Amino acid sequence: MKKANLEVRGMYCAHCSKAVENALGQAGLLSHVDLAHNRVEFTYDEEKISLEYLRRLVKRAGYELVIDERKSFDRNKVLVPVALLVLLFSLLGIVHHVLQPFQVEIPFFFFFGNDVTFLVLATISILVLGIPFFVRAVKGLRYKNIGMDFLISLSSLASYALSLYLFVTNVQRGIDPLALHAHHMDGYRMTYFDGTCMILSIITLGHLLTDRIKLKADKNYQKAAIEPPKDSTLVYPDGTTETLDSDRLDVGDTIRVLAGDVLPCDGHVVKGRGHIDESSLTGESRPRLVQVGDKVLGGTYLQDGPIEMEVEKIALESLYSSIQNESYALDQRKGKLSKLSDTIAAYFTPSVLLIALLSFLVCLFAMKLDVEESIVRACSVLSVSCPCAFGLAVPISSMSGYDCALRHGVLFKSGDTFEKIRRIQCAVFDKTGTLSTGRMHVEGFCGRKDLLPVVKAMEKNSLHPIALSLIQWLQEEKEEEIEAVQEIPGEGLRSGPYVLGNRRSVQGKSLSAELERFEEEKKDTSLVYLSDEREVLLILSLVDELSQDSVDTIQELKRRGIHVYMVTGDRREYALQIAKRLHIDEENVLSEATPQSKASLLREIRKKEGVLCYVGDGINDTLALKEADLSFASYKANAIACSSADGLLLRPELSALLAALDISKKTYVNIIENFVWAILYNVAMIPLAVLGLLPMYLCAALMIASNLTLTINSLRVRSYRPERKEKRR
Ligand code: ADP
Ligand code: MG
Repeated sequence: MKKANLEVRGMYCAHCSKAVENALGQAGLLSHVDLAHNRVEFTYDEEKISLEYLRRLVKRAGYELVIDERKSFDRNKVLVPVALLVLLFSLLGIVHHVLQPFQVEIPFFFFFGNDVTFLVLATISILVLGIPFFVRAVKGLRYKNIGMDFLISLSSLASYALSLYLFVTNVQRGIDPLALHAHHMDGYRMTYFDGTCMILSIITLGHLLTDRIKLKADKNYQKAAIEPPKDSTLVYPDGTTETLDSDRLDVGDTIRVLAGDVLPCDGHVVKGRGHIDESSLTGESRPRLVQVGDKVLGGTYLQDGPIEMEVEKIALESLYSSIQNESYALDQRKGKLSKLSDTIAAYFTPSVLLIALLSFLVCLFAMKLDVEESIVRACSVLSVSCPCAFGLAVPISSMSGYDCALRHGVLFKSGDTFEKIRRIQCAVFDKTGTLSTGRMHVEGFCGRKDLLPVVKAMEKNSLHPIALSLIQWLQEEKEEEIEAVQEIPGEGLRSGPYVLGNRRSVQGKSLSAELERFEEEKKDTSLVYLSDEREVLLILSLVDELSQDSVDTIQELKRRGIHVYMVTGDRREYALQIAKRLHIDEENVLSEATPQSKASLLREIRKKEGVLCYVGDGINDTLALKEADLSFASYKANAIACSSADGLLLRPELSALLAALDISKKTYVNIIENFVWAILYNVAMIPLAVLGLLPMYLCAALMIASNLTLTINSLRVRSYRPERKEKRR
């Protein structure tokens, strides 16, 4: 199977993306269209389906799948000059028409005042510019997907047919269509060829302009441009190495990465130190210093090194791949607004058709206008209405919000995140690895020093921040042969007679006077106990490292009226100590929680506080991540936490969450703006067209202006910069 991500030309709103998805669906492919970047992504079996076949399927639906930039025929090369020429001539025709009553005679102007010129122009428009619209409209009909293309086709064809009929009757009445002032002659009936020309040329040009704007915005933003390497250097425990296909790396493998290499997958450093450039993933341009125990991500690149890293996620499941795939999810889990816009878009076009029909009947029978005028007004209604607005408002805005968030270190996994995050009333944080950096310092220990190798050997089997910190601390220590290790989330580890974990895990075991004293003395720290079947043998005391960024983020959240809670599996005394440093209120600290109780605690908090957001990192957080209304996996999070969360923080700084809040608010407001615009525009313009106050050419111009406004407004979100509170202070 092979993944393709290709450009598609000719798409403008949700109707188009659906048409392309339908076309690829004929080949049995599930595809995802990204309307904001004009791209489609799908996985296909190279041996069964050729890209050329897919290109033809898409072409038959009226769009262009670009397989090879150089080979693909750019139909814009034909459309642009024709559209420009038609537009220019039509405009001159209109000027001529306006100047007529003043008897202004300009040489060659007669050329634009006669019907034959416009008959030719309109015919060219229909044949060259119109056909792409007609093809898409007819294809759309087959899938009951009628949108703007259908309305444009109907109005341009109707005005053309009407004009043709009038042209023929004029000739039958003996009026020479080439005559200089034919329209002053008795019995002359005005034709509407210029309307056909204007509709098709303006809308074609408008679409191309929209494409340009999107492309330009795209250039400023390059999505994860670095490809992870195909080969990796595997390091065996005895120090020998082997080159291996990156796809064959397994969790737990140790690989060597040299300076200048791109990391093949996610993991943590086990040897060496270096600077990692993560800009391809998170947009952060400052390189980050990583050393033993630090998490590193695939798709980023090592500036200096070398380092050795242990693989935590295979390449396919690494963050890099999920970012590449995540835009799928974004569309699949649609929010309320997205569903609303889909519904409106689905009913809008049929409604416009009905309004056009009604306005024709009203003009004809109630207002006693002649048939021609009634048809022209109905055509105006068809061309001024802007169904795209509804199909365009949500997808482009939310994709732009997604891009913007990614650039600020947050990956939104589902489309409704924007709508939910802005309603958040309280934020609950896990302590270790989320509020704290996850790097813990060993303050001291008491008991059997000779068992430290056992501690090291056991912790080698865990990815818990405590484990990574202890391994780093015990770097020089030798390792003991031990029995198989079992990890109990939120408690610790077991191996044969040994238990290594929190107080709960060693409950009922006896404690010597010396250890009891140490426990009392260090009660303001995080304690890890090692016991055998009978007694506690060793206690280690650790303290979390807190970053100023966490302190600032909590403060800012509180300033915004969001209540902040902390839940942890750690001891109460120590949890309170940390909470004090973070300015979290004592009553909002929930300690000694098990993974199960974390979820039930969240339910209680939600009853009291309302919409709740949870940020956590470990396997002990999965239930809580699922329970929360909205959940984020922190930077240190493991694979399971990442898959349970609605979003991922891609940077160590917790302040990414603030950026996420700002960006989703901005995106939401943007979507609402688009909606309001779309409604106001249609509500204002359609009646004007019914009343005959909008000539047909103006209708087309207004419609395309509305579309452009919406696209530009939606793309604005992409370059939005969330406020950086800490800088202001
Ligand atoms: P938090 O909720 O703060 O992230 P956890 O629920 O992951 O903490 O863990 C709760 C407690 O269980 C830790 O404070 C620690 O004492 C103990 N623990 C968990 N995993 C381990 C481990 N691998 N080694 C030692 N102790 C552990
Ligand atoms: Mg944790």
